[in-house]
Amino acid sequence: MSITGPDSELDPAGRVDWLREQIHTHNQAYYERDAPIIADAEYDLLMRELRFLEDAHPDLITAQSPTQSGVGGSPSEQFSPVQHRRRMMSLDNAMDLDELRAWGERTARRLAEIDAAGPADTARAVRYVCELKIDGLAVSVRYERGRLVQAATRGDGRVGEDVTANVSGIAAVPQQLGPSAPEVLEARGEIYLPLDSFHALRERVIAENEELAAKGNRQRPVPVNPRNAGAGSLRQKDPTVTASRGLAWWCYQLGEIVGAEEPPTHSAALAWLGGMGIPVNPETKVVDNLDEVYKFCAHWVEHRHELPYEIDGVVIKIDDLATQQALGETAKAPRWAIAFKLPPEERTTTLLDIQVSIGRTGKATPFAVLKPVFVGGSTVGMSTLHNEDQVRHKDVRPGDTVILRKAGDVIPEVVGPVLELRPEGLPEWKFPSNCPSCAQPLVRHEGESQHLCINPECPQKRWASICHFASRGAMDIDGLGEQQIASFLELSLMNDVADIFSLQADRLLHLPGYQQLSVQNLLSAIEASKSRPLGNLLFGLNILHLGASGGQTLAAAFGSLEAIMAASVEDLSAVAGIGPVIAGSVFSFFAEPANRDLVQRLVDAGVNTVGPERSLLQQTLSGRGVVVTGSLAGFSRDAAASAIKERGGTAPGSVSKKTFAVVIGDEPGASKLAKATELQIPLLNEAEFLQLLQTGELPATSADQDVSI
Ligand code: NAD
Repeated sequence: MSITGPDSELDPAGRVDWLREQIHTHNQAYYERDAPIIADAEYDLLMRELRFLEDAHPDLITAQSPTQSGVGGSPSEQFSPVQHRRRMMSLDNAMDLDELRAWGERTARRLAEIDAAGPADTARAVRYVCELKIDGLAVSVRYERGRLVQAATRGDGRVGEDVTANVSGIAAVPQQLGPSAPEVLEARGEIYLPLDSFHALRERVIAENEELAAKGNRQRPVPVNPRNAGAGSLRQKDPTVTASRGLAWWCYQLGEIVGAEEPPTHSAALAWLGGMGIPVNPETKVVDNLDEVYKFCAHWVEHRHELPYEIDGVVIKIDDLATQQALGETAKAPRWAIAFKLPPEERTTTLLDIQVSIGRTGKATPFAVLKPVFVGGSTVGMSTLHNEDQVRHKDVRPGDTVILRKAGDVIPEVVGPVLELRPEGLPEWKFPSNCPSCAQPLVRHEGESQHLCINPECPQKRWASICHFASRGAMDIDGLGEQQIASFLELSLMNDVADIFSLQADRLLHLPGYQQLSVQNLLSAIEASKSRPLGNLLFGLNILHLGASGGQTLAAAFGSLEAIMAASVEDLSAVAGIGPVIAGSVFSFFAEPANRDLVQRLVDAGVNTVGPERSLLQQTLSGRGVVVTGSLAGFSRDAAASAIKERGGTAPGSVSKKTFAVVIGDEPGASKLAKATELQIPLLNEAEFLQLLQTGELPATSADQDVSI
């Protein structure tokens, strides 16, 4: 298969044929094997280009073109065919709000024409149902006299695959409906893999692969995203495998019904389905106009990651069923609905190389050098691969086509290779044995995942450690940036962090770019840094595993650098929030004579080594984790966290079974709330939070509260 295909200007017919061939290949990979070769966004581009060329050259349109003919792929022979009584359709897409607006205007125009030709003399008011577009697999579930009798995939829209045995094992799909169920009821919806189940499956496959690799056997592909893993889980030969995967279901459409009157609106149909015990997504909203539709879409662009499952868009449907009927459908999709696609978060690109960077503590971190690609709102050319084991688990090799994912604020991640596109004989990547900066051997200690450069003279490590010491989160020395540090090192003006405090004005004044004022500013900033809190100094010292909050915790617990240096591993790990790994690392750091010398030079230079003042507040939350979600009237996010910490507690960013309580403000995060409810963690309002701060006591009824969002 050619990568680029014929030129559309020189040979539009050839280009159209090539696009159709590509789309056909990708449909097979996606719908029939649940293992796409390209990301959805790239597939959408192929479809768009085909549509564009067909619009420009209508003579090239054929009935078989994927723009004109049915939906999806052909049903596989692995399952018996099921003829859909009502066609299962695809959806037209709007890539942005302009395209959504164009759809709104198009339908309004069409309806005006229909109304003008008919007896009605008033324009109809259009209401819209906004639903989440769940990224899964469409399934129709048929109930007869309330009992599940058949389940089928969408297939090509007319004929699907019989997956009754598989769907029957999914706990979220009721086997039996309530007594009000009609004689026949077909419920259509999306089977999907919730994020929890996806991560569990991924971890299971990685663990199994370790065992397979140890025995020299071929490894299984690690699932790369919930959609494909979910579709693959459903279309298993063995229904017990499907049942073990933790699939779930949201129903979003009524299909055939016999023995009951069809509700007049889509929203009424959803309510009716929900009333019979069929899961209908609670985020569904009925709105009166397109402005409200845009608001709903904009909200989910921002908040999609708060859901415990993946969505790839919002589906907007006209509520009134008579209006739906009047609008009708095209060969592929209804005219009364549209999918607003969320910006893509996955792309495929080429992994050009894997290199290793040396950090401030000597950690050697592999990172992917990628052919730059636009994903999740920015162009990405590099992405961390964390450590040797991660590269092995993902089995990515330079030269691979890889799937790159950037979800929201999360850093971009290479999720895995597209094995089908791997060039023959591509060698596995090996972790380098020597430091790329100083060429000394890298070490990986027993039980650790990280390689380290332990050479204290390593130039890259030295530079990174001084940069970190001077950075905002540590000693915050304004004017001492990465470039200045690099040139001071080159000129031998400094060799380690303590040398910062012996920089002399007369030496600096001779350097290019430095004048009286800039030298004065730098020296004042260095002077000011001497009074930073002890926690910042500890963080600045580049102690392996010790982060900013660990530094503050130690400072608060011991009150002086001297006391920390004198503490045993047991003393250190007795502090809440300091685990044995950090304690061991802090202890080893201060046991090293070179580090003790360094600290002594810092002390001699006059840096602050005491404090903070022990909190005078009662330690009502000692050792307890309190999560705050949503906005509170009386506290900013930081102020709420400080109030908890000043009372001895911690304020983590996520809910776990160790969480003591969750404080719910306005517009709380849906996933935090869901997790807290699932784990039965007490939910507090702001008044109860105040009471908790004062007394450390939970209100008597907090665990039973019903908080709605
Ligand atoms: P679609 O995914 O754009 O929209 C239709 C589907 O949305 C429905 O069939 C249903 O499964 C789903 N859906 C989820 N929530 C829904 C809701 N609330 N109401 C109604 N439907 C809902 O269209 P499609 O025809 O299923 O697939 C086309 C898309 O699939 C492409 O745009 C692309 O993203 C992806 N695809 C990717 C590849 C690839 O190689 N990567 C190949 C083929 C298709």
